[in-house]
Amino acid sequence: MPELPEVETTVRGLAGFLMGERITAVRVNRPDLRRPFPPFIVQALTGARVTALSRRAKYGLIQFDRDWTLIFHLGMSGRWRIDPAELGAHDHFVLETAGHVFALNDARRFGSVDLVGTGSLMAWPPFAALGPEPLGPDFTAARLKAALKGRSQAIKLLLLDQRIVAGLGNIYVCEALFRAGLSPRRAGGKVTRAALERLVPAIRQVLAEAIADGGSTLRDYARPDGRLGYFATRFAVYGREGEACRCGGTVKRIAQGGRGSWYCPGCQT
Ligand SMILES: [Zn+2]
Repeated sequence: MPELPEVETTVRGLAGFLMGERITAVRVNRPDLRRPFPPFIVQALTGARVTALSRRAKYGLIQFDRDWTLIFHLGMSGRWRIDPAELGAHDHFVLETAGHVFALNDARRFGSVDLVGTGSLMAWPPFAALGPEPLGPDFTAARLKAALKGRSQAIKLLLLDQRIVAGLGNIYVCEALFRAGLSPRRAGGKVTRAALERLVPAIRQVLAEAIADGGSTLRDYARPDGRLGYFATRFAVYGREGEACRCGGTVKRIAQGGRGSWYCPGCQT
């Protein structure tokens, strides 16, 4: 599943081709992904010029003149293909410029495409309740401490709550908790300020490293069959149940909220 670093890399990859370009054609090849495509999207974007690209949580934003912003989510399996040799059955949404073709390919269709007035982006319901960006200036140990105050739920699950911090997924929460030496099972309200002072930079680091790894895949991304997959990041604990930790202990997997958490009971308390 694409997480924040994959979305950031996708946005950067698209920006290199789309920034400042005018859309010459828009094609919608099925009525919906997770929800219907906006019915007016072809009319709204044909002839529009791209003025900015950015990311919020796990959403990519393509801003156009005419006051429209296209918001895409990659869901479980979504990816943009640039200049595909030919369009396939899962290329559900296509943008064209004078020089390039951009196909949103989503086999499982858990992704989405929305069109929102640029002036009212912050009021768009999926954005309205989002917490701070983990790489932004508002994500601090002090603010996280306040958000976790009195919470008895496990820190792992609270970090996946998009109202507490936006855009974190399972992989990077597991890795950041490992780096901070914090057990995923610890009650959120019981995590000390000192531990949060380790956790916040750990979260920033794991994301920044994955984004840096992603940057090196951008050349491949532009290939006709360019596939933006998982980065070659070596995970310390994620998916490594039963393997040796660097401390000599063994990585353990537990279920939390119906999903796996990987951690080292020796390093994380
Ligand atoms: Zn260990």
